[in-house]
Amino acid sequence: MSRTWNFNAGPAVLPEEVLEQVKADLPEIGKSGMSVMELSHRGKAYMAIHQEAAANVRTLMGLPDDYAVLFLQGGASTQFAMVPRNLLTDGQTADYVHTGSWASKAIQEAKLVGRVNLAADTSKERPCRIPKLSELKLTSGAAYVHLTSNETIEGTQWMEFPKSDAPLVADMSSDILSRPIDAGRFALIYAGAQKNIGPAGVTLVIIRKDVAARVSERVPKIFRYATHIEEDSLYNTPPCFAIYVVALVTRWLLKQGSLEAIGARNRAKAQRLYGVIDSGFYRPTAAKECRSQMNVTFRLPSEELEMAFIAEAEAQGMVGLKGHRSVGGARASIYNAMPSEGVEALAVFMQEFARRHG
Ligand code: PMP
Repeated sequence: MSRTWNFNAGPAVLPEEVLEQVKADLPEIGKSGMSVMELSHRGKAYMAIHQEAAANVRTLMGLPDDYAVLFLQGGASTQFAMVPRNLLTDGQTADYVHTGSWASKAIQEAKLVGRVNLAADTSKERPCRIPKLSELKLTSGAAYVHLTSNETIEGTQWMEFPKSDAPLVADMSSDILSRPIDAGRFALIYAGAQKNIGPAGVTLVIIRKDVAARVSERVPKIFRYATHIEEDSLYNTPPCFAIYVVALVTRWLLKQGSLEAIGARNRAKAQRLYGVIDSGFYRPTAAKECRSQMNVTFRLPSEELEMAFIAEAEAQGMVGLKGHRSVGGARASIYNAMPSEGVEALAVFMQEFARRHG
């Protein structure tokens, strides 16, 4: 088979090497006599996989010992609800930075639980942007500060993070493990796996253990971080197959080098596309200083040209370039597993399309 260049926003491209390993392991993993899907989640063979996935995340991010690495279910959307139910205790205020579509979903859930202060709101601004740190109006004594490190739909990304006394919480669904970050600055990081680290069905949660202790007894046990920390994500049956793929992807990431090296490669890929966009014909939709290295969003001179662009790209083996329906235009998602060759193919196509239609 010939693989297409997959620019989907998520589920998204996975490393070919990982897919080959999955194929080889499928009928029997190790010497277990069965596939990974058939293993008992409490058996030795599965435990080794579970622990490797967590250890790889820990190594890649350089996590301090007081952090737990959890593999949960329900997607990042469940985290929108779990975060305030665990961390927003009675009478407190949570600060949320409203940067766009995904921040909005997180805010809506938090409002169901308690008081929310919008520390900044750039969600309606065009070009799309992330607020400057000096614009943030943080509440003193806030329960926590929540931000979306990469807005997948708008194509914007935080380049530096606020320093706050309150615990910092980040939805990193679309840029987890794509660049170095100082993990110790965050009290809680969550990310659906299906963009940068694996298939849909598992959500990575990295949590400083002390913040999990605040939870009220009224929160159902399954929705408490404390439960999952105590049980090492084995309180109930985990999504074993998805966690196994995360173990393989993070093993692959470790082979790529450090997050510095991975980040440099991602930056170079993004710069190649922004270089084409900046040379005219295409119009970027995100402000220059906060353009995402993961989701490159742009418009063409007309909707007709946008449709032609997406159709022609597809005919040339490049799929998933349609922008999200809420913002339109085009979007190239170029996560960790998108090779430079795929980005180069797209850049060349974009230049050629602009020459023909410009
Ligand atoms: N946050 C961000 C930044 C996302 O991109 C997405 C999914 N595209 C979500 C949250 C929601 O994730 P899920 O579908 O796993 O609930």
